[in-house]
Amino acid sequence: MASAQQSTCDAVVVGAGFAGLYALHSLRDRLGLSVRAFEAGGGLGGTWYFNRYPGARSDSDSYIYCYTFDRKLLQEWEWSERYPEQPEILRYLNHVADRLDLRRDIQLDTRVTEATFDEAGKAWVIRTDKGDVVTARYLVSAVGCLSSSNQPAFKGAETFLGRSYHTGHWPHGGVDFTARRVGVIGTGASAVQAIPVIAQQAKHLTVFQRTANYCVPARNGKVDPEKVRARKADYERIIEAIRNSYFGFEYDFIMQSVLEAPPEERERVFTEMWDTGGFAFWLANYQDMLFTREANDVCAEFLHNKIRETVKDPAVARMLTPAGYPYGTKRQPLDTNYFETFNKPNVELVDVNETPIEEITPRGVRTSTREHELDILVFATGFDALTGPLNRIAIRGRGGRLLSDKWRDGPHSYLGVAVAGFPNLFTITGPGSPSVLSNMPVSIEQHVDWITGCIGHMRRNRFATVEATGDAEERWTEHVAEVANSTLMPTANSWYVGANIPGKPRVFMPYLGGVGPYRQKCNEIAANGYEGFALAP
Ligand code: NAP
Repeated sequence: MASAQQSTCDAVVVGAGFAGLYALHSLRDRLGLSVRAFEAGGGLGGTWYFNRYPGARSDSDSYIYCYTFDRKLLQEWEWSERYPEQPEILRYLNHVADRLDLRRDIQLDTRVTEATFDEAGKAWVIRTDKGDVVTARYLVSAVGCLSSSNQPAFKGAETFLGRSYHTGHWPHGGVDFTARRVGVIGTGASAVQAIPVIAQQAKHLTVFQRTANYCVPARNGKVDPEKVRARKADYERIIEAIRNSYFGFEYDFIMQSVLEAPPEERERVFTEMWDTGGFAFWLANYQDMLFTREANDVCAEFLHNKIRETVKDPAVARMLTPAGYPYGTKRQPLDTNYFETFNKPNVELVDVNETPIEEITPRGVRTSTREHELDILVFATGFDALTGPLNRIAIRGRGGRLLSDKWRDGPHSYLGVAVAGFPNLFTITGPGSPSVLSNMPVSIEQHVDWITGCIGHMRRNRFATVEATGDAEERWTEHVAEVANSTLMPTANSWYVGANIPGKPRVFMPYLGGVGPYRQKCNEIAANGYEGFALAP
């Protein structure tokens, strides 16, 4: 281990993905703070550094899956497709880092392991796995919502003699599936992107499915240059629209009830959304789809029919048809030939509810009925979302209290950006904010701008600490739950409620109140002198 490096700066940023890069820029170049960013990866990019699995690309349209703070960059950068692929997003983020001269303040290959609030010094003492000890007034978490991977503890996993990978830690050199027998465990958004690509190469692909997913075609491709030009000319309106929208996209729910729409009309509307591709079906649908099971069933039925039309073997189609939870209550994956892939002769689907995985053996995966022999096993098993990345750092607030202890029964946070008992800690897209229920760059920019405003206010007014009050935190946490509970969203066993992680408390973590209304609330709180926060000299 390198010898301990002791230093002091104004702010430490944890992570150098979309959020960390912008936080570093904003705090350093707007407020003039001295900032150090630590990044666990060997390169910057966060999610886009680690998730290199085949088919990995953004599910948000490229023209809005980017920073908007730099209007010149918006005009200059050319995305090659409707949804940018992982290498292209990584190039973009590296370009931004160079353009803003961010690298000199980022330390790569360094994981923050501990952060302790020194109450006397009113500063955080941050430690890394490389021996750094940094004292900083502000601690800004940009750790991402989906960066702590979920590796289920299958019996015998260590005995497997083939190679195994997690989609969230994909090898940089890629994986050659040619002539290999491949198994994929999981059918979430990552698997839905990876499976069709792997199936093209592999000799045989076995997909182990626990929950069938509602997938809608992405409809990726080149964007008409005329449309690109028109959008570039219209960015001011687009930025306003996405910032004030519900989910950070140019989509709005149809305010009518699906149950009141005449059947021919709703069929036409559904078909239009289906043909548009992307999140239209999820986020521009009839509003009651998210509120009543009856309305939801109508939307779900349209998607069930699409699966039946696409998948030739009725038994496989049945297995691929989601059941037992309402449409849209788990994150909707976007697909390119996902269901079609199951028509290929080299692809096999195993329902692990019917035939559970009993163990991983040296030769493959043994379910209750047989052993599936594999050369390569891919875990597309997701993440310990939202709280996972924060809880794995030993963050100690007032009285030495661990954040992971405070959050033992679920996250408690004010606005998803601050935590009572943890002064000067800011959590970008933390639990309790729209975060994963939005187009991430929109929410990231909003949080970073708000945090920059807050720290600017503190410095102008000589406040040393800002801290959410317990009352404000409790009211916000109740509000987050109340909004979620007014919808069908918490009813599914999704990672939004932590259902994918054994033992995780079942709490709906993101804020469903909408990106626009949330932004307005945050702005009002700031305008009212940071209502719900205690500011102290
Ligand atoms: P995920 O959605 O959590 O999917 C994990 C899959 O593994 C699920 O099918 C899950 O089944 C299954 N699984 C987990 N533990 C299992 C076990 N012990 N046995 C059998 N199956 C198990 O993870 P993900 O696909 O990596 O996606 C996570 C999130 O990342 C997405 O929802 C999305 O927000 C984001 N993402 C974004 C993009 C993009 O924008 N381009 C792409 C990929 C991912 P259950 O459903 O039953 O839990």
